[in-house]
Amino acid sequence: MTSTVNIGIESSDEAFSRLVFDNSYARDLAGTYAPWKPQAWPQPQLVRLNQALAEELGLPAAALATPAGVAILAGNTVPEGAQPLAQAYAGHQFGHLSPQLGDGRALLLGEVIDRQGRRRDIALKGSGQTPFSRRGDGRAALGPVLREYLVAEAMQALGIPTTQALAAVTTGDMVQREQPLPGAVLVRVASSHIRVGTFEFFAVRQDWDLLRRLIDYTIARHDPQWIGHPDRTLELLRGVAQRQAELVAQWMGVGFIHGVMNTDNMALSGETIDYGPCAFMEGYDPATVFSSIDTYGRYAYRNQPGIAQWNLARLADCLIPLIDDDGARAVERATTVIDAFAGYYDRAWLAVMRAKLGLPEPVDADTDADAADRALIDALLALLARDRVDFTLGFRRLSTALRSEEQRWLGLFDAARPEAQDWLAHWRSRLAASAGSNETVATQMDRVNPLYIPRNHLVEAALAAASDQGDYAPFERLLAVISDPYRERAEDAAFTVPAPAEQTARYRTFCGT
Ligand code: AMP
Ligand code: MG
Repeated sequence: MTSTVNIGIESSDEAFSRLVFDNSYARDLAGTYAPWKPQAWPQPQLVRLNQALAEELGLPAAALATPAGVAILAGNTVPEGAQPLAQAYAGHQFGHLSPQLGDGRALLLGEVIDRQGRRRDIALKGSGQTPFSRRGDGRAALGPVLREYLVAEAMQALGIPTTQALAAVTTGDMVQREQPLPGAVLVRVASSHIRVGTFEFFAVRQDWDLLRRLIDYTIARHDPQWIGHPDRTLELLRGVAQRQAELVAQWMGVGFIHGVMNTDNMALSGETIDYGPCAFMEGYDPATVFSSIDTYGRYAYRNQPGIAQWNLARLADCLIPLIDDDGARAVERATTVIDAFAGYYDRAWLAVMRAKLGLPEPVDADTDADAADRALIDALLALLARDRVDFTLGFRRLSTALRSEEQRWLGLFDAARPEAQDWLAHWRSRLAASAGSNETVATQMDRVNPLYIPRNHLVEAALAAASDQGDYAPFERLLAVISDPYRERAEDAAFTVPAPAEQTARYRTFCGT
């Protein structure tokens, strides 16, 4: 190779030639996908690139932004080494089995090993029709693409496992929804796209050979300590149970409502995946539902842990024939893990909530301390619920109360409830007995209780400006704010204000289709 002068801009081919694809899914799981090509779009334009993520993947951002780079991000060009494919999966949607879903508007381009040695999927969403499209057009509209970008970044900044967006590209085409909307492609990076529904697809077809291969593949990818172990299938189920327990506990800690926890939207990696009608709760009400299609509140805030467990049971249904040759014993062993989920979740939730209240974790298991802390947390949640206090501020302002500005917290309640004052006194005495200085605890709390979340009215305004006027300034601004969620900044004060209650009450989200 001849030497070149590095001027900071490389051709995209050079950029992507640094991406060494190693497509294990394509290689190991033939029969579980359809090799397929992304659709080419008339006029792809980069609207957002995740520089930090590009860096993690070892990709020069400047090269990705060139026309040749954008052509790759849009799916117009398939980069060297990629093997685009549509993954097959089934899924229980709102409790009902759909035996065939699959990537109807997405493709896995391939896998790369990032700079830290982690295997990451690179996928396109909104990349055109596939054999799994059913009646769908295979496309994505700009609004939902930007929502996924934004909320995934918020989750990432909050330290919650999530798929991430590498880029958002407009296609130059319109997609027909209730009205015509600008089309877009999201480039998604995930630690894998293996879903509960992936297993269901092969279990429904009683394809035990493929199911066995899928299990071994998933273990190699997510639970490698169990490779080759006789109990690996059961331990995979347990690993998924533990990861989901941790994940949902973290959602609950920030008031996140996924909105469509169908089994095809639950990843075995334990990452949050498929941001559709998701939203962050403002006024605290455990029954909150935002999704327009969730008529019965199946995926309401408070139901999320139970639904995760229900989804795990659907995974267990698929795995049972391979857990133990003795059918009754297999059921019994799988049931033990499903039942254990409740304990995994409770512990994870208690840890999340303790951190939010600045309460120390007992050094050794201490059921009395657990019970006392649970009672304290439940009492706070009951107070927040009664006055529909903003969930984010209800926790964030506790640290100000600890810094002697009790009024800022008490002011969140209707007529500064005396019960809230009592609770505060109780909490402070609990802290005085066990924790560090007030300032130390307040500082720690400010590292776990975000001040900035993607508030629904701000998200909607940002998406509308981009989608209707091509004005990305509100999106960029909001993205910057939620990417730094804990550090208070005077200039961002407007982003901490909840939407008016009437607006929140009417707020409805729609699936990203
Ligand atoms: P989701 O609700 O986005 O999780 O998608 C559920 C199923 O519908 C998946 O199989 C998707 O691939 C498929 N799907 C969603 N939107 C479209 C679309 N516009 N075209 C084709 N398939 C779609
Ligand atoms: Mg989905």
